[in-house]
Parts: sequence; structure tokens; C-alpha cells
Amino acid sequence: MKKIAVLTSGGDAPGMNAAIRAVVRKGIYHHLDVYGIYNGYYGLVHGNLEKLELGSVGDIIHRGGTILRSARLPEFADVKVQEKALEQLNQHGIEGLVVIGGDGSYRGANALTKLGFPCVGVPGTIDNDIVGTEFTIGFDTAINTVIDAIDKIRDTASSHERTFVIEVMGRDAGDIALWAGLAGGAETILIPEEKTTIDDIVDRLQRGKERGKKHSIIVVAEGVMSGVTLAEELKQKIDADVRVSVLGHIQRGGSPTATDRLLASRLGARAVELLLEGKGGRAVGIVNNKIVDHAIANIFNQRHHIDDEVIRLAKELSI
Ligand code: ADP
Repeated sequence: MKKIAVLTSGGDAPGMNAAIRAVVRKGIYHHLDVYGIYNGYYGLVHGNLEKLELGSVGDIIHRGGTILRSARLPEFADVKVQEKALEQLNQHGIEGLVVIGGDGSYRGANALTKLGFPCVGVPGTIDNDIVGTEFTIGFDTAINTVIDAIDKIRDTASSHERTFVIEVMGRDAGDIALWAGLAGGAETILIPEEKTTIDDIVDRLQRGKERGKKHSIIVVAEGVMSGVTLAEELKQKIDADVRVSVLGHIQRGGSPTATDRLLASRLGARAVELLLEGKGGRAVGIVNNKIVDHAIANIFNQRHHIDDEVIRLAKELSI
């Protein structure tokens, strides 16, 4: 193998740049030419790529976002569009591709592998919702952003004896809400994986009040309901000043934490090794602090499971 390429696709995540850097430097270390494809599969199909040098990825390890940018191309599910991508790759003599992204991006990588072109997936998403890895690149930075917000909101909540609803990202996966809620000491954490009624939340708030609690912080994943709706429903049932904070896209940005930079560096480098070993159709991940890889095709048949032990602990510590 002489030439490989790398792209970022789907939602961006802090640490993607550190992963790109690792792919490029590890590739060059092994005497490969490494191409960067801009704007995900869209750029691949349109031939928007260039050779990257050691210096092309200098000074990016600490930056959020992705220097290769990201784009969505729903048409990539069509085999004819995938064949156009193959034409581009063949035309440039590229023999392997690293795809950094989420579940959707993995489907594209799997499709290309099925057409005979070796691809390796690297899990880059703040949602932490990819099967085959305990953590995804960007998740640690996102939860650090959320706990920073919780800490600040807690200061003002306690000064004014208020209940605060903090809405965080997570449509289908409650990982951000759960882990950040636990680390931030939230009194109530609402995630899509667990059913909670408004009456449960009201009971909990009431119990806290009876124990002399002056304020309360509720973290809700957007997939459960919007923070505004939750606050409206609570106001119907309790006599309290309920305020809402929707954290939104700040959770996607920022300089990646040390944990995310290290994870991205390890996963990106392993992806290149797999291509060199002739193992396409794999996705890398971290399990028990060891870098592992799985067949991408198997990942789609499974659902991401949130860690039940963490759910239990969050409940035990927020009684
Ligand atoms: P993420 O990778 O973060 O889950 P998306 O679901 O938006 O983000 O997927 C990113 C891109 O991956 C899509 O815009 C599309 O180009 C490609 N993709 C998604 N689903 C498929 C599929 N079933 N087959 C081929 N390519 C796909």
C-alpha cells in the first residue's frame, strides 16, 4: 500500500483534528502518501482532495472542529454515487480510506468496503453512541463543556434558590446527560433510555425541599423533551422559580481535552496500521483502555447501550 486518504463526515467533534493528525503522521512514518478529502463523502465524490504533508497537520492537535470540514451527502446511500467515489479514489491511486465520523459515516465506509475498497472507521462524535467502543472522540470534551456550564449555573441557582433545567445534546443516546449530570452533581438526570414522569421529578424536588435544599439542577437530554417544555410542565405542578438553559452547539466546539486528544491519536494511528495489515472493513474503538477493532458490518446490527452501572450510581448519589 502506497497511498491512503482520510475524511471527516457527519457531525463534527472536538478531537477530529487530532485524529487526522495521527492518520497523516502515522501514514508518513510508514512511508505512505496521505491525502486529505475535504467535506466528507461530498468532497470524495467531487474529487476535492489533496496530499497532506507533516506540516499540513501541524498546530491542529488543540483545535476543535475539523480542518477537512464535514458535509452531509444523503445520496451516498446510492451505489451509483458510491461508484463515483471509487472512480475518484482509483484515479488518484488511493488504496485505503480512513473515515472519521459517526454511525452514518460508518455506513458509507461499509458500502465502499463491500465494493472492494478497504475502509477503516474511527468513531468521532460527541454523542458516545457508537457500538464497539466505550468512548468516542469528542465525548469527553463535550461533557467537560457541560459540567463547566452546570458549575456556573449552580452558583447562580444557589444564590437565588432556583430550579434550573439544563438541556443538553443527545437525541437517542443519553450519555452526555448521564455522565455530565453525574460529574456535575445534578439532582435529576433525564435520558431517553429511561422513562421518568413529571410526577417522579416533582416528588424528587419536593423531597429535596423538605431536606432544606435551596436549589435544584435538572439535566435533560434533548431526546426526552425540550428544556422549555419540561420547565413549563414543572411550573404547572410546583411553586418554584424554574429557569431554563439550552446549551446547544457550544457542546460541539472547543479545544479537545487531553483524554480526547490521546484517544484520537491512538485510534487514528491504529486505523492506519489496520490498512497496512490489509484489514479493511474494520472500525477501531477503545475497550478497557485497549485499542480494539471490529467488523464495521456487525456494528449496524447492534444498538448502543448506555452503561447501566453509571445510571444506577447517578441515582444513588443524587437521592
Ligand atoms: P454521522 O456519521 O455523524 O452519524 P450522518 O448520519 O449524517 O452523520 O452520516 C454522515 C454521512 O454518511 C451522510 O451524509 C452520508 O454521506 C453517509 N451515509 C449515511 N448513511 C449512509 C448509508 N446508509 N449508506 C451510505 N452512506 C451513508
